[in-house]
Amino acid sequence: MQKNKRNRERTKAAMELTNRYCARNYLPLPVVLGRGEGVWVWDVENKKYLDCLSAYSAVNQGHRHPRIIHALQEQAGRLTLASGAFYNDQLGIFLEKLCNLSQMKLALPMNTGVEAVETALKAIRLWAYLVKGIAENQAEIIVCADNFHGRTISAISMSSEPVYRKNFGPFTPGFKIVEYDSVTAIENAITENTAAIFLEPIQGESGIRIPAAGFLGRVKTLCKQHNLLFALDEIQTGLGRTGKLFCHQREAGVKPDILTVGKALGGGVYPISAVLSSPEVLGLFQPGQHGSTFSGNPLAAAVGCASLDVIVEENLAERSNKSGQYLLQRLQQKLKSEELVEIRGKGLFIGIEMRIPVRAYCERLMHEGILCKETHDNILRISPPLVIDEPELDFIVDTITKILAA
Ligand code: PLP
Repeated sequence: MQKNKRNRERTKAAMELTNRYCARNYLPLPVVLGRGEGVWVWDVENKKYLDCLSAYSAVNQGHRHPRIIHALQEQAGRLTLASGAFYNDQLGIFLEKLCNLSQMKLALPMNTGVEAVETALKAIRLWAYLVKGIAENQAEIIVCADNFHGRTISAISMSSEPVYRKNFGPFTPGFKIVEYDSVTAIENAITENTAAIFLEPIQGESGIRIPAAGFLGRVKTLCKQHNLLFALDEIQTGLGRTGKLFCHQREAGVKPDILTVGKALGGGVYPISAVLSSPEVLGLFQPGQHGSTFSGNPLAAAVGCASLDVIVEENLAERSNKSGQYLLQRLQQKLKSEELVEIRGKGLFIGIEMRIPVRAYCERLMHEGILCKETHDNILRISPPLVIDEPELDFIVDTITKILAA
C-alpha cells in the first residue's frame, strides 16, 4: 500500500517537474517511463506496456537491443567524438555498410532526421546550379501536401499543415506544394527551374497514407524526362518499417537519386541520420560548405553499424512484412466499430482511421497496457518494434478491438 503510494508520487513528481521546466511542444500521455526492453517498456510504478509507437519508428530493433548497447559501451570506452576536423576509425566502416545496403555510392552523415532533410535540400540546390544550370537563387523543389519532413524553418516551409506553420513565417522560398499521389499535379508544377521532386513513399505523420501502386514509378519517369532529381524521405519508412529494407523497394525500378534516412539508424539509442546519393550529387559539396560538430562521430558510427547489423541479421524487414500482414488482416477481420473509416498499412506501419478523435482511445489503451499515439486527430498509428512476436501481436489485436469497439 505504502509502496503504491510512493510510486504514484514518483509519477506525479516527474510529470510536474517536466511540465515546470520543459516547453509544452508535446502533449504526452500521462505515463512516466523508466525502463525498456525489446517491445516492452515499464513506467516508474513498474506497470508494463507494449510499445506500439517505437519512438516514431526509431526503435525498430526493440528497446536496448543488447548488440547495439554493447557497441555503444565498447565505443564509449575508446573515443566518442572527433569532429570533422579529424578522421576517426569508425566512420568509413559505417558508411560503407550503409551505402552497400542502400545501393548508393556516397553518404553525408548527420544527426537528426530534419538535418538530413536540410542537407538533402542543400545538395539539390547545389546540383541545380552547378550541374543543371538553373539561374542562381531560382531553383524550385516540388513537394507534396500533407508531408512531414521535420520542424526547422525550411521543413515547415515545405509543409501544408497550418499547425506546423502558423506564426513561424517568413518561410524559405523555392518550394511548390502539390497534391500527394497525383502525377498530374506534379507534372503541372514542373518548370525550367525545377530541380527535384521530394516526397515520402508513404506519408507517415499524415496518417499512413499509401499512394496508388505505380505512383513512385511514374514520378521517377517524370524526373528522368525533365532532368530532375528524384528524392525520397525514408526517415520513418526506411530500415524495415514497411516490410522492405526501404519502402521504395516495394516497387521495382524506383531507386531514388537522393535518399534520407534517420530514426532507426541509431537503434533507438543515438540520433543518427544520413543523406545517401551519388558522387554526381553529394560529390558537389566542397570543404566548408556544410557540416555539423557531432555528425559522423565515432560513437554514432559504431552504434549505426550495430543498428544496421541487427536489422539485416535478424531479418527485421521480412519479419515486419509477415507480422504486418498478420496484424493488418486480424485487425481488419476483428475490429468492428461504426466510427471506423479504414485500416491500412504496409509492414508494421499501420493506421486505423476513425471518424472521431482518437486521443481518448490512446488513454484507454494505455490503461490496458498498450502505448500508442494519434497522428492528426483521428488516426491511430500502430508501429511496434519489428522484433515483435505473434503472442504480442494477438495482444494488440485483442486489446484494440476491445477498446475501439467500446
Ligand atoms: N522526415 C520524416 C518522413 C519523418 O517522419 C520525420 C520525423 O518524424 C522527420 C523527417 C524528422 O525527423 P527528426 O524528428 O529526427 O528531425
